[in-house]
Amino acid sequence: MPVMPGVIWKGDQSSKRRMERYDVFCIHTIVGYAPAHAAHFSVFADGDIYQSRDTLYTSAANLNGNHRIIASENEDHGARFGGTPRLPAWVPLTPEQVAANAEIYAWLHETHDIPLQMNPDSRPSSRGLGYHRQGIDGNFAGYRFQGRVSGGEVWTEAYGKVCPTDARIAQLPDILTATRNLLEPDMTPEQYKTLADAQTAKILEAVTNQGEKTRARQIKTASRIVATIKRNGKATQDDIAALEEALAE
Ligand SMILES: [Zn+2]
Repeated sequence: MPVMPGVIWKGDQSSKRRMERYDVFCIHTIVGYAPAHAAHFSVFADGDIYQSRDTLYTSAANLNGNHRIIASENEDHGARFGGTPRLPAWVPLTPEQVAANAEIYAWLHETHDIPLQMNPDSRPSSRGLGYHRQGIDGNFAGYRFQGRVSGGEVWTEAYGKVCPTDARIAQLPDILTATRNLLEPDMTPEQYKTLADAQTAKILEAVTNQGEKTRARQIKTASRIVATIKRNGKATQDDIAALEEALAE
């Protein structure tokens, strides 16, 4: 029974409809107080996590995407948010909520293989960390983040719903970064030196037998990535993938 360790388990509130696959971790805002049992997870202002649905079963938070989406509802009313915000006077997630969603996402990645990437839209083939508005029709002119694209699944019947608000959508990269940091802890200096040496060797190997222009471009790209790695004092799987891609041209 997939229940995340360390959460407050509320007993299964689902209709026992089975998930078909695991593509998206979707962020919502409650417009109220946690918990919201329509979602799998509810995150309180202080970072407490309630789980209301076994992840074997669907949520009721994403309409036509329920068969492939794990939903997280996030509190937005209460003292930490200045009381009861007048909609749409939006309030960002607390740092504890960002951290809690990263913990959920890390667990989902390990348990259900949802990939660690930004979900681009609500199309059936899209995967990763998403937000409700991606599946919402509406006039979002004047908003920073747009709604459903053509060919995308409809994730609510409510036209123009802004969930989870521009302020919170803007925090998704923070959740993704925090998740990666949980799964890829900093390397020791020895591990880092070994990796840096291997990367240098790879660059040298790749640039032989290449045309002058390709070689120059590869060196430039690879150097930039290595510089980023050095500045951060560690390498993420993304850095390594980007490096390999640059050298494979
Ligand atoms: Zn929502």
